[in-house]
Amino acid sequence: MQLQDLLFSQGFGTRRICAGLVQQGHVRVGAEPVTDPGLEVEAEGFHFEVDGVAWEFHEKAYLMLNKPAGTECSSKPSAYPSIYTLLPAPLRQRPQKGGVTGVQAVGRLDQDTTGLLLLTDDGHFIHRMNSPRHLVPKVYEVEAKHPVDERACQRLLEGVVLVDDPKPVRAAACELTGERSLRLTITEGKYHQVKRMVAAVGNRVEGLHRSRIGSVALPADLAPGQWRWLSGEQLAALG
Ligand code: URA
Repeated sequence: MQLQDLLFSQGFGTRRICAGLVQQGHVRVGAEPVTDPGLEVEAEGFHFEVDGVAWEFHEKAYLMLNKPAGTECSSKPSAYPSIYTLLPAPLRQRPQKGGVTGVQAVGRLDQDTTGLLLLTDDGHFIHRMNSPRHLVPKVYEVEAKHPVDERACQRLLEGVVLVDDPKPVRAAACELTGERSLRLTITEGKYHQVKRMVAAVGNRVEGLHRSRIGSVALPADLAPGQWRWLSGEQLAALG
């Protein structure tokens, strides 16, 4: 693949802009600056720098973000900054068949929820992960307003009925982690599901953090607001 086409595929702008980036010396490959936009490169595993920032080629982008509180998972937020402002421009403008859309969140977290969020430009992956048939356990650390006990956990495991939804929803796992905190695992992703489940047992969520999706745990060294590529193993394990 030509270097300018590779940069284009990774979201660095139109082919013309990408050619200009190379010609003007913004791009390095290894230790070497390159100035030929037509340079043939092997895309798979290709590493490069643009203005000193390291990048690697990804046919499709799959990443995790540690979502900070006070951010919205919408590209058109109503009250708080969008999570997309936390991502570098190339990830927001990766070309798609239908135009330029960049990566999208796989499901949404509330503005006040923190933690693990997956993003991708692979529409099939988003569809699969959000499908009710694909039961991926999502683990939430819940801070509750009132004390929690085994009875509350038992009720959440047995299933609770949410307002406006007659079908009971069950926690796949529930573990008390403190006097007012619990670790709740759910496999669906209904609107405000954890908050509504906790409300259904007479309590109230005061803090919510997603710590894991399937086998992918939020890394301890990924600070709020930071993102990272998913590894091939993580991606494969998500199915
Ligand atoms: N459940 C909620 O209530 N809110 C979230 O952000 C995620 C799950």
